[in-house]
Amino acid sequence: APVIGVLALQGDVREHLTALTGAGAQARPVRRRAELDAVDGLVIPGGESTTISKLVDIFELREPIDKRIAAGMPVYGSCAGMIMLAGEVLDGRPDQRGFDGIEMTVRRNAFGRQVDSFEAPVEIVGVDGPALHAVFIRAPWVERVGAGVEVLGTVTDGPAAGRIVAVRQGNLLATSFHPELTGDLRLHRYFVDLTRAVA
Ligand code: GLN
Repeated sequence: APVIGVLALQGDVREHLTALTGAGAQARPVRRRAELDAVDGLVIPGGESTTISKLVDIFELREPIDKRIAAGMPVYGSCAGMIMLAGEVLDGRPDQRGFDGIEMTVRRNAFGRQVDSFEAPVEIVGVDGPALHAVFIRAPWVERVGAGVEVLGTVTDGPAAGRIVAVRQGNLLATSFHPELTGDLRLHRYFVDLTRAVA
């Protein structure tokens, strides 16, 4: 089974470890460089992107993660993790910094202007079966994607209809929502399969 780490500096680490294990990975928390070196793929959990950004520097993980991403390591970012993977962040703090990740612009806390948290069905390209039950918690949305980015999912109904909430660029995957909170393992399986193919 592929070894998949969850960046364990802040956020809902435990839920991702459980979902990854259920989806067939060997899941473990990553806080140190040596732990990062031992994984085939990495999940950046939901939480608070400004805090994760600061802790990435304090734990001296920024350069090692950028290098692994450049070398093709699969990374899945959920919510704050999506923000950490975005090339450009709108409504971010001036000092927050992401990884050298997906060619996209995300708006932080984007849905919050209408409603802080909500749930909606979202169909994901490459995930079979019924629409995922997507849980959004002070979530970002994607406002612009570069040519190399595949849009995997958009909100279909309500005030946020048409907003991009799931994308993939090469081995990098990002969602605005939190599949780790629903018990539906399909998105984690998608990421485990992606990591298995690369590992
Ligand atoms: N609003 C948070 C941020 O800006 C993300 C929220 C989440 O991860 N649930 O990082």
